[in-house]
Amino acid sequence: MNICIECGLCCDGTIFSFVPIEPEDDVGPLREVGAILETDETARFLQPCAALELRCCSIYESRPSLCRAYRCALLKRVEAGEAEVEEARDIIATVIELRDRVRPTIEAMVNPRKQEAMVTLYSLMRAKLSEGADETPAADRAALLLDIAALRVLLASQFDPVGTLQQKPRTRSPEVDA
Ligand code: SF4
Ligand code: SF4
Repeated sequence: MNICIECGLCCDGTIFSFVPIEPEDDVGPLREVGAILETDETARFLQPCAALELRCCSIYESRPSLCRAYRCALLKRVEAGEAEVEEARDIIATVIELRDRVRPTIEAMVNPRKQEAMVTLYSLMRAKLSEGADETPAADRAALLLDIAALRVLLASQFDPVGTLQQKPRTRSPEVDA
């Protein structure tokens, strides 16, 4: 069973905030679904990805090369037989539960103008807190910060221990090299 179809965390802005576009990528399908493309310093598209539908890629056959290549640490462990599918599903469910608790609370706090990746929301939240402009009750804020810490530890330990939590990394796999 492919655990990705219940996940989508590497596409919905939970793990990464953008995906670099490689020269060989056809960006037409991304444009068609309304993905936000940036081509100023490096070509990339932002996450949450507009191509994601119900945790699956709606342009799967023509997705960019880094998306084809990417496998998080959890998926690699499952594929190597080092983790059971059920264990992976539980980890994914826990992350989604934490993320779904944290995201609306931060959004209510910072009032972003568009859907933002989690790392961007964290930055906006930090700015708000350092301004002293947040009116969230102290107990709620403490609970939020604990949830954020738990989420980030899980993401770093289970999904992307070497990544920057900013971009889908430029790793190669047999799937794209073939
Ligand atoms: S590669 Fe990992 S993070 Fe991405 S959808 Fe699959 S299980 Fe989730
Ligand atoms: S193009 Fe598809 S695989 Fe790539 S980030 Fe978007 S939804 Fe995920």
